[in-house]
Amino acid sequence: MTGMTHDETEEKKSLNFVEEIVVNDLKAGKNDGRLQTRFPPEPNGYLHIGHAKAICMDFGIAEKYNGVCNLRLDDTNPIKEDTEYVEAIKKDIQWLGFKWENIYHASDYFQQLWDFAVRLIKEGKAYVDEQSSEQIALQKGTPTQPGTPSPFRDRPIEENLELFNKMNSGEAEEGSMVLRAKLDMGSPNMHFRDPIIYRIINKEHHRTGNKWKAYPMYDFAHGQSDYFEGVTHSICTLEFVPHRPLYDHFIDELKEGKDLNNHRPRQIEFNRLNLTYTVMSKRKLLALVKEGLVNGWDDPRMPTLCGLRRRGYSPESIRKFIDMIGYTKFDALNDVAMLEAAAREDLNARAIRVSAVLNPVRLVITNYPEGQVEELEAVNNPENEADGTHSIEFSRELWIEREDFMEVAPKKYFRLTPGNEVRLKNAYIVKCTGCKKDENGTVTEVYCEYDPNSKSGMPGSDRKVKGTLHWLSCAHCLPAEVRLYDRLFSVENPGADDRDFRELLNPSSLTVLENCYVEKFAAEKKPLDYLQFQRIGYFTMDKDSRPDHLIYNRTVSLKDTWSKKSK
Ligand code: ATP
Ligand code: MG
Repeated sequence: MTGMTHDETEEKKSLNFVEEIVVNDLKAGKNDGRLQTRFPPEPNGYLHIGHAKAICMDFGIAEKYNGVCNLRLDDTNPIKEDTEYVEAIKKDIQWLGFKWENIYHASDYFQQLWDFAVRLIKEGKAYVDEQSSEQIALQKGTPTQPGTPSPFRDRPIEENLELFNKMNSGEAEEGSMVLRAKLDMGSPNMHFRDPIIYRIINKEHHRTGNKWKAYPMYDFAHGQSDYFEGVTHSICTLEFVPHRPLYDHFIDELKEGKDLNNHRPRQIEFNRLNLTYTVMSKRKLLALVKEGLVNGWDDPRMPTLCGLRRRGYSPESIRKFIDMIGYTKFDALNDVAMLEAAAREDLNARAIRVSAVLNPVRLVITNYPEGQVEELEAVNNPENEADGTHSIEFSRELWIEREDFMEVAPKKYFRLTPGNEVRLKNAYIVKCTGCKKDENGTVTEVYCEYDPNSKSGMPGSDRKVKGTLHWLSCAHCLPAEVRLYDRLFSVENPGADDRDFRELLNPSSLTVLENCYVEKFAAEKKPLDYLQFQRIGYFTMDKDSRPDHLIYNRTVSLKDTWSKKSK
């Protein structure tokens, strides 16, 4: 490459295509060197991990190149919008670690947009159409066939103004008329075939109350809002590619002959995040919540940010995942196993290690003195010495996992089986001596003897045994409920065919284990503290957990058992 230093080449390689555009615009001195982006959610639902991808782009790029990013609530449809969603959106953005410069609302521009629409009418560039939406749709034509002009297309300007006022005053009924831009019914771009730019909605708006009844459509609000705010790069997802010419068109109209030079928002589109085994459309997510198919927006099985948070995902793991998948111009389906891998990697570094037994059976150390209790030291996080240690009690009767004992075991079973030795984590080496069973043959107690000279950390205690088990002292641990989550849907891409997504739900996406035990140290933790139940997985306390009814959510298992299962 000529004229480029090695460093510049390196930098260029690591930039995604949006960053390249921004860097080039900044270098060319466009927008007086300003960079301004926005994240524009419609407050009609909770944010999901797809939104996180847009957030990381909009806020991330502004951060990286000394620009500003604003939060704009795209609140032009009062039917589906609510302040509950506005608050949730703000919380989720902050949780991901981003800060907006200002909060704007599309509804702040209702007057300006109205005035603009009136101007278009006066210039003969917009008209009120009284046809039904079905008729209008029929006349749109197809991509290969031009549309048919509406019989109202050439009505007098005065009449249009009068009717447009009626659309807003309550005199015209919802659905009885719309305002359309008079563009080109033969345009190869369907969005130019006299798009609807205003419709009547008879519902109180959460910010403007009953002031308006005529509401602008997305295409008549978004680009203009960008323009009013001084957005330089309007980054969105690929489905808006065909909208871009209309976006540019309305800005051209709006600037009224002013020479903007380079001072105009530029729309750039990247690929959406789509995740396997889930759905991402807000309409479907809302249906899951409303129909009680999940337990609310923050159900830990949901792909919402509040669901992932409650499940124990760290914001860093989500950002790491979004980094891994990158930004391109081609739609793809992203493997949820990658998100889980990102979570494991991140949580491994930050989770506090504790002991929990999910499927308990009693282990009695027959040669350990009755009534004796030892305080042992357990490392909080082997990945980070600064996290320190905590103590855990050891005694004669312990809970171990039922799977960690087999009366008759195959050859390579390195856990408890009569005659075999294992180490009890942080404690002693024990040798299994047998078990007791009930009349059904179910093991009720496992017996072993310990070697008093094998205590972890003691000189000469480094005798090697093949297995290390976790355990809890029966008298010193606490009962807990543990919720295990699996994929919400049983098919990879629930949106791929005509089947109703409800029929594709995974019936065993939630397993509740009611008879688990955790060590006391785990009970002192708070919801959203990151925990590792040793040998089991990453967990966090659920927000519904109470001291007398502890509840933990599994974030992810320690290993990816799913990809093996499905092969
Ligand atoms: P709906 O499901 O109602 O169509 P939406 O997903 O478009 O809504 P918005 O609130 O309009 O949601 O989205 C705000 C921003 O987030 C937009 O810029 C949109 O492009 C982006 N976004 C939404 N879903 C994804 C996704 N899956 N991947 C990346 N960006 C997304
Ligand atoms: Mg949208």
